[in-house]
Amino acid sequence: MSQVRVRFCPSPTGNPHVGMVRTALFNWAFARHMGGKFVFRIEDTDTARDSEESYNDLLDSLRWLGMDWDEGPEIGGPHGPYRQSQRMDIYAEVAAKLLETGHAYKCYCSQEELEERREVARAAGKTPGYDRACRDLSESQIAEYVAQSRAAVVRFRMPDTDFTWVDLVRGEVTFANEHVPDYVIVRATGEPLYTLVNPVDDVLMEITHVLRGEDLLSSTPRQLALYDALKEIGIAKGERPLYGHLPYVMGEGNKKLSKRDPESRLLMYREEGYLPEGLLNYLALLGWSFGEDREFFSKEEMASVFDISRVNANPARFDLKKCTAINGEWIRHIAVEDLAIRLVPFLKEDGVFTNDPTSEQMQKLLAAVPHVQERMETLRQGIGMLGFLFYGDVGSPEFAIEPSEAEKVLTPDALPVLVAAHEALSDLAEWSTESIEDALRVALIENMELKPKLAFGPVRVAVTGRRVSPPLFESLEILGQERSLARILAATK
Ligand code: GLU
Ligand code: ZN
Repeated sequence: MSQVRVRFCPSPTGNPHVGMVRTALFNWAFARHMGGKFVFRIEDTDTARDSEESYNDLLDSLRWLGMDWDEGPEIGGPHGPYRQSQRMDIYAEVAAKLLETGHAYKCYCSQEELEERREVARAAGKTPGYDRACRDLSESQIAEYVAQSRAAVVRFRMPDTDFTWVDLVRGEVTFANEHVPDYVIVRATGEPLYTLVNPVDDVLMEITHVLRGEDLLSSTPRQLALYDALKEIGIAKGERPLYGHLPYVMGEGNKKLSKRDPESRLLMYREEGYLPEGLLNYLALLGWSFGEDREFFSKEEMASVFDISRVNANPARFDLKKCTAINGEWIRHIAVEDLAIRLVPFLKEDGVFTNDPTSEQMQKLLAAVPHVQERMETLRQGIGMLGFLFYGDVGSPEFAIEPSEAEKVLTPDALPVLVAAHEALSDLAEWSTESIEDALRVALIENMELKPKLAFGPVRVAVTGRRVSPPLFESLEILGQERSLARILAATK
């Protein structure tokens, strides 16, 4: 087989969403597995809906996810440009050739006329597709329409055959001829449509495999027919691409996950602190399986075994809880230094740091990360557990106890506990997790005969501001003796 070439070709409309990312991932993994090329193409021919912002978001998202492309925006390649808005003359030329050779024709029907005739067809129990009224107009009819200044769209002339292909995911698929009308490829304004530009670029960019969502299944017979026409007029040189349609992704209530569902927004995952590794790992499971019941793997590991034949045709279920759990596994898997670095933007965004952390702050963060790594499933969850270490530093807010936590834990009963803890810790010559633990156990558990929760709860809230924190003795050690004592003392006031 010639070299595998696949494409990811989103339209820059609205926010990038997870369905799109899954499609990109499967294409990327296939290209990497086969030693082929992953082509990134931007389908921005719809001027009314496309935006530059969305274009930038797409590039930024793929970069964040670490899916490198071999040809595409910003890096170019032998089949560029890779933004369809920069290829308009190519499409105009192809459309003209299709008209010239009779593979396409101008249709002068108005919207009202089309709708009226569809009504009639429906009433007669027929498929209400385009009735081919303009397929074979006489010269004089055309002249009359032109004289009436009617606008004309360009339609593709579908051959009178059924279309069958062996889908890489679904097996043999057939569309009966009557279900594939002569479809519009160029608007009356001259704007070429997806129906033209997508398959034309697949041909010109020598795409060998089209892996895309099942929602595009009905485009395939049209694109095969167009491919054949392009072959006949010498534009297509190779073989028809092979098609594989990835299963639907279902959301809540067994409805298709929609772009409008919040868990569909890619940005949500970045904002909440999912790792790209975790998100991609989860998305890989939507319709594909690694085998051996393995559910934790990197995208490189996925690529090393990725085989389209293991893509399942049945709808996949999107489960945010599972996605989050896998993300938690990834957080536990990466190195402490790496995790600390990834936490910094979250701590900055939350105002814990106003500048880049100093080396001293970074040391504190590195010391604390192993103690929170087990306790968080998203990076954002780390903020609340780590902020206490830095409050009061230059450029950081003052330390304050969450009022609701204070109310629950720092009750009058807690006062003697805090006083005793302060006294026990003041005398410590060596400030280590062990010495702190020993001192507090003796003072609170042995001498005061308190249950651990009543003994350590008030100390925890006094120094971390919250009931959920990294382990207490380690927290005290990292925070330092002076600050710990000052906070315990302040809580007694
Ligand atoms: N631009 C199209 C979309 O975003 C591409 C579909 C395809 O893969 O053919 O839906
Ligand atoms: Zn017509």
